[in-house]
Amino acid sequence: MAYLGNYQNTKAVLDKYGFTMQKKFGQNFLVDSNVLENIVTSAGVTKDDCVLEIGPGIGTMTQYLCEHARFVIAVEIDKKLIPVLNETLSEYDNKVIINQDVLKLDLNAIAEEYNDGKPIKVVANLPYYITTPIIMELFESHVPLESITAMVQLEVAERMQTGPGSKEYGALSLAVQYYSNPKIVLKVGAGSFIPRPNVDSAVIRMELYKENPVSVRNEAFMFSLIRASFNQRRKTLVNSLSNAGLQGVTKETVTDALSEMGLSPTIRGEALSLAEFAKLSDLICS
Ligand code: SAM
Repeated sequence: MAYLGNYQNTKAVLDKYGFTMQKKFGQNFLVDSNVLENIVTSAGVTKDDCVLEIGPGIGTMTQYLCEHARFVIAVEIDKKLIPVLNETLSEYDNKVIINQDVLKLDLNAIAEEYNDGKPIKVVANLPYYITTPIIMELFESHVPLESITAMVQLEVAERMQTGPGSKEYGALSLAVQYYSNPKIVLKVGAGSFIPRPNVDSAVIRMELYKENPVSVRNEAFMFSLIRASFNQRRKTLVNSLSNAGLQGVTKETVTDALSEMGLSPTIRGEALSLAEFAKLSDLICS
């Protein structure tokens, strides 16, 4: 089977199966071999690695991954793509194709079954309609992960990488930076996909920390504070947190904690770093 990473070969496979791409599944297939090679290189995939690919589509990137990795787990929601994948990946025996919604899969069990519970690498051209839920699920379910290398909307990649003070900074930035060290490795134009998406894209590599960069007594509580701060980001932290209905969080507890941290009572959440949210969380908890 020829490589699919170009327009002609992709079109030929789509025509052969009479496959029409579905917007509801975020189907924009890569037709740019330079971008494909760049993703696999940036992900640092070697013959020691077990890779999880979320949304293989017709198998374009999966072919590259099978060539470079020890084993590839490809999880695809669209059952119409399974016969296509069975053909385009027929010459590789180092893969499994799972027809499932990745958000409904027990990824810890998958890592256990296919990699003895050792850290896996995620490599994906993600469906843009559920990028954030997928990334959060990967982090919060504590699946053993070494890194995530993902194609996402450029704007989302920028949100993941940015720090306090910028308008893109928010709950996603803090979650990504609590669990990993993110780096945009490539910007990709709409012409590298069919059909062309309406937005620019970027490949971001998130290297998972072995130890989180800040320590916090109650991780879940810190993330409740973070979400509440950015739900009403134009309000002061004191107002947005005390309105959020979180147990034990009142105007007084937040003002006292901010004062102990030497921060202004009129500060907004968007000005706080991850370390400051951790400290605030510990002070309010105590
Ligand atoms: N990897 C292919 C490529 O680069 O050409 C396709 C990428 S396309 C942007 C996203 C893929 O994710 C589609 O094949 C889509 O059907 C699949 N997908 C969408 N939602 C999914 C979900 N919840 N679980 C697993 N796969 C999903």
